[in-house]
Amino acid sequence: MKITIAKDAGYCFGVRDAVNLAHKTANEHKEVYMLGDIVHNESVVSDLNKVGAKVVSSIDDVPKDKKILFRAHGTIPKIWKNAEDKGKNIIDATCPLVHKIHKEVKELEEEGRKIVVIGDHGHDEVVGIAAQVKDAIVISSKDEALNMKKYRKIGVVSQSTQMIENVNEIINVFISKIYDIRFINTICFPTKRNHEQIKELASDCDVIIIIGSFTSANSKRLAKMSKTINDRTYQVTCSKDIKVEWFINCNSVGISAGASTPDYLIEDVAKSIEKIETDK
Ligand code: SF4
Repeated sequence: MKITIAKDAGYCFGVRDAVNLAHKTANEHKEVYMLGDIVHNESVVSDLNKVGAKVVSSIDDVPKDKKILFRAHGTIPKIWKNAEDKGKNIIDATCPLVHKIHKEVKELEEEGRKIVVIGDHGHDEVVGIAAQVKDAIVISSKDEALNMKKYRKIGVVSQSTQMIENVNEIINVFISKIYDIRFINTICFPTKRNHEQIKELASDCDVIIIIGSFTSANSKRLAKMSKTINDRTYQVTCSKDIKVEWFINCNSVGISAGASTPDYLIEDVAKSIEKIETDK
């Protein structure tokens, strides 16, 4: 059984840098605090907790002399201001590509456009982007785009991990109903690469395994994308979820993982699949 791991499976550079920064800060200062999970992956959060990176729900829960780390997905301006006003020691782990989306969206607003963010409702990154401007609209699907009120002039960006197919569908609806549209394609390049690679693997392999937490929108999206091409696609969180029967009559397995999945989980899953082959 041939096993192929997608070249860019797992951590994108933004998440990798944020997790490394959390480890480094926890090592240097014994503790570091984060508002919510640093990434949508239970293993990573638990590992970080063990070295002193703690999750809190409010700025007020961060002890006075301790550092607070703002996560890769970005943080809403109100929380930044609140933390600064309270004199907190902020460490900014926001991905530079997310900072760039914040900048783009503000520029679009300065052009007098109604801002539309194509993304998942309630996702931290989307909430952070929308909060950069006044009354942004979040649209997650073609149906929502069809039902959106008409505006004369809109500025559109997307969540960094969106599927281009979904964005295209939504933009096509806008073209049919809105006079003046400016769209900035803010799907990030690690996402584009990951999506291209899964499309190729899903066509070439008998079975596809996607590793990622079920709380991770981009892992679920990767699995959904693969499933449309290859019905034998399975999402797992770790090697324990793997079922031997998936590999019956299987000569080739493709593995990919969401942007919040650490390397060791990918290696662990690959080894378990190799073992199935040996035990056959
Ligand atoms: S998915 Fe893209 S934008 Fe988001 S943290 Fe990773 S590299 Fe940055």
